[in-house]
Amino acid sequence: MRSETYLRILREPKKHICRSCSSEYDGLRIGRHWYCGECTHVAHDAGRKARLWVRLAMRSGVLMPAHAFRCVDCDKWAQCWEHRDYSKPLDIEPTCFSCNHKRGPAIFARAA
Ligand SMILES: [Zn+2]
Ligand SMILES: [Zn+2]
Repeated sequence: MRSETYLRILREPKKHICRSCSSEYDGLRIGRHWYCGECTHVAHDAGRKARLWVRLAMRSGVLMPAHAFRCVDCDKWAQCWEHRDYSKPLDIEPTCFSCNHKRGPAIFARAA
């Protein structure tokens, strides 16, 4: 029964490896997955805080807007500040959206 096999494969939950804690977790692939449920929550929070720092720094005039610079990866005009580590909110580089996307997720300090 070919069609049944096919359906079973489709329904098989895909194993993901969390990029933060390296634990294996189940989950059907919907959109982009980097982390297990717990780490997604921590990453989301860390990212939100890091972006808030950047906004505050720009507003107070300490930080220039990213589009005043060239993307460090491809030399097109940058469109955003890119974080490599959310625990260092102002350790940032100007990148365009596509290079930012290519770089993938920033690392972050995992809550104990
Ligand atoms: Zn995890
Ligand atoms: Zn770029």
